[in-house]
Amino acid sequence: MNELSDVKISLVVPVFNEEASVPLFMEAFLKASAQWPFAADVTFVNDGSSDSSLALLRYYAGEHANVHYLSFSRNFGKEVALSAGMDHAVGDAVVLMDVDLQHPFEAISQFVEVWRKDDAQMVYGVRNADNEETAMKRWTSRQFYRFFNMMAHTPLPEGGGDFRLLDRRVVDALRSLPERNRFMKGLYAWVGFKTCAVPYEQPARVAGTSSFNYWKLWNFALDGIVSFSTWPLRVWSYLGVLVAFFAFLYGGWVIFQTMVWGVSVPGYASLAVGVMFLGGMQLISIGILGEYLGRLFIESKGRPPYIVAEKQVADAPTA
Ligand code: UDP
Ligand code: MG
Repeated sequence: MNELSDVKISLVVPVFNEEASVPLFMEAFLKASAQWPFAADVTFVNDGSSDSSLALLRYYAGEHANVHYLSFSRNFGKEVALSAGMDHAVGDAVVLMDVDLQHPFEAISQFVEVWRKDDAQMVYGVRNADNEETAMKRWTSRQFYRFFNMMAHTPLPEGGGDFRLLDRRVVDALRSLPERNRFMKGLYAWVGFKTCAVPYEQPARVAGTSSFNYWKLWNFALDGIVSFSTWPLRVWSYLGVLVAFFAFLYGGWVIFQTMVWGVSVPGYASLAVGVMFLGGMQLISIGILGEYLGRLFIESKGRPPYIVAEKQVADAPTA
């Protein structure tokens, strides 16, 4: 590996209505990068902000040769913004981080150290979640990881978010994935490579408010599960077998009853319950089929994952 002074780290930073955070981020970046023994640049990805974030990014890119930005034509979501940033980052390693200073710059030096010393191709931050987040958010997050890991082919390490360093090889691997629905947490695990964790303290957001409410998080979780597991599709076969088995037993019992005691008419209530139960199950299973089919439909259209309206970036390493 080359000398640390020859290494370049590219920060990829998604920005969505963050006019209050961007100047604070820039201030912290300039201060931190002045101390770093390696070169660093920043690629901001403006994810369709409606405030003055873009104007700020234009300004900073004009002021500093190592600050770049690209700007989407509308809001495409954080996952896609990260992908776009990786498509345009030129460094030997890429660090993904939020603009709200919840991802401390001090941790980046540690990421780089682990990347170099332990020969890890991916180094992710594990937040000390006891600080800022509510108990409810922590609990739902834990349940998500448990459920996901029960079902998915590639388990996710709990507490690992998007704050991470990716070696160029990992970036190239991620860029080679053609899917449009980019559940990044799953993709990091899917591409493999030697991965190390580094704990960090996550402070509260420096300005503004989080753009992820529970409804968004629920849909995000659903996206993740549907794109990384086929278990929800398969479970219906097993349930079907189970229900058919009990129906068979019950049928046998009815025949037996009729033969021994003669024809018996009652049974209206059990009939209604059975029909409703099966109806409900069938609707659920059709709904789940729909989840997968809908995603297949969207993927099959082959639309690009994002549209860039404006950019000022370093020359991309590959097309
Ligand atoms: N973000 C984005 N697009 C979105 C929502 C968020 O690019 O649609 C960015 C946001 O500007 C920030 C990062 O993603 O840099 C994390 O967002 P936030 O702090 O709101 O999420 P949280 O920290 O609560 O998970
Ligand atoms: Mg945040």
